[in-house]
Amino acid sequence: MGNHMFDAIRAAAKPDARFVESPDGRCWSYSDMLGASARIAGALEKLSVRPGDRVAVQAEKSPEVLMLYIACLRAGAVYLPLNTAYTLAELDYFISDAEPRLVVVSPAARETVGELAGRYGAHVETLDASGSGSLMDLASDQPPDFTDAECGPDDLAAILYTSGTTGRSKGAMLTHDNLLSNALALRDYWRFTSEDRLIHALPIFHTHGLFVASNVVLLSGASMIFLPKFDADEVLRLLPRASVLMGVPTFYVRLVQHRELTRETVGRMRLFISGSAPLLAETHEAFRRRTGHAILERYGMTETNMNTSNPYDGERIADTVGFPLPGVELRVTEPETGVPLRDGETGMIEVRGPNVFKGYWRMPEKTEAEFRSDGFFITGDLGKIDERGYVHIVGRGKDLIISGGYNVYPKEIETEIDRLDGVVESAVIGIPHPDFGEGVAAVVVREKGSTLEERMILQGLRDRLARYKQPKAVVFVDELPRNAMGKVQKNVLRERYGKVLE
Ligand code: ATP
Ligand code: MG
Repeated sequence: MGNHMFDAIRAAAKPDARFVESPDGRCWSYSDMLGASARIAGALEKLSVRPGDRVAVQAEKSPEVLMLYIACLRAGAVYLPLNTAYTLAELDYFISDAEPRLVVVSPAARETVGELAGRYGAHVETLDASGSGSLMDLASDQPPDFTDAECGPDDLAAILYTSGTTGRSKGAMLTHDNLLSNALALRDYWRFTSEDRLIHALPIFHTHGLFVASNVVLLSGASMIFLPKFDADEVLRLLPRASVLMGVPTFYVRLVQHRELTRETVGRMRLFISGSAPLLAETHEAFRRRTGHAILERYGMTETNMNTSNPYDGERIADTVGFPLPGVELRVTEPETGVPLRDGETGMIEVRGPNVFKGYWRMPEKTEAEFRSDGFFITGDLGKIDERGYVHIVGRGKDLIISGGYNVYPKEIETEIDRLDGVVESAVIGIPHPDFGEGVAAVVVREKGSTLEERMILQGLRDRLARYKQPKAVVFVDELPRNAMGKVQKNVLRERYGKVLE
């Protein structure tokens, strides 16, 4: 049977080619990757990690963490990355829920997490930001080859917890083929080859940095510059040496604010990709003016890997997420009934394909509730397909506002508010209203020094939006609350401002 995901990685690996370089000058060839992952897989075996066991990892980003992920694939273990921002109390939830055999943490957390993990029968090893720690000490005594565990397409490769934007994070069970099929589809769609060099500035505890970025590089035999985090100066310095950048929208917002972003600095780049949150059309336009490049926006989620992408050759349209990827079926339905809608109509986005996860870890009822009987997964995102086939996302189902019986899509109102002079960005939420059930409230970030007032915003919207869509309240804030993935937390806003209309 072999090892479904790792065999593909091995097949793409040209031993002498470079795989990763870190800014401090450390480099790994593909043959180094094969050796390092074998040694770590050997260490996992020594630690009694058996196929199907979970390995939870809360460690600072380093190439060694990536080697650990690959080692888990080889050992048949289930890789479970955790956001480095999670506190001990949050870790308690993840560890009790996932029951890992092994937890890998930074040396500073060894004692506290060790005590916690011990309560759930897990063992702890360490890995620090420079790639050393007790796990690596153990690995260095292991041989550079390893007999890979037999893993079929349907075997679990990872459990990734969702970002927790709409509530408590859920563990998404991802199989070897979920990862492999999606990485191959993206590699081909985005034309990755061994000539590519990616700037990797994303966290690797999330699907974007871990699977989209790293798996695509691995499966094309390409290389990447592995940065501990995003820093606009550093990325600009590296752009002339790279060919692709993958980022969340904030990366692009920061880059267009930078004086040094010019056509010259991006001279050798062939592709800029954005995802994980909506990219403002304004950022797309500004980036194109400065660099001549149209950012390619794509759409995915922890549960499904990537679903859609703007085209490589065709027109990349701002405010859309492009077409379903080859092998992915996407439809828009009436949320309550699941009946497919016509193109142009807004409803629930549903997807089916080899990319879609196996279910939520230990949540059979939730899993059942999120799938239609014909196997389509209900994403929770609302959207539509336009006459040219491009998919548009209008927001999350949970953020939909129903005011006086009418559906109000926050994004439409946010777009109108963001157009006004003096506005940096906005978030529109529904809050309880005594007459209408819910009313529209706008939370707005003003430009520095702007004297914009509520009545000016309402004035600006008066001729643009139907009355039921107009905000009943406007609140000004210095910044919008975002979670560790940079996503606006509307549930926090609803909690904070839920009473302004009472
Ligand atoms: P949780 O499910 O725990 O509430 P989350 O949905 O934010 O958190 P992720 O799986 O990290 O967790 O994010 C997936 C979501 O991100 C998608 O469902 C979608 O709402 C949003 N998203 C991803 N890419 C885009 C994009 N290009 N445009 C708009 N939204 C996007
Ligand atoms: Mg989600």
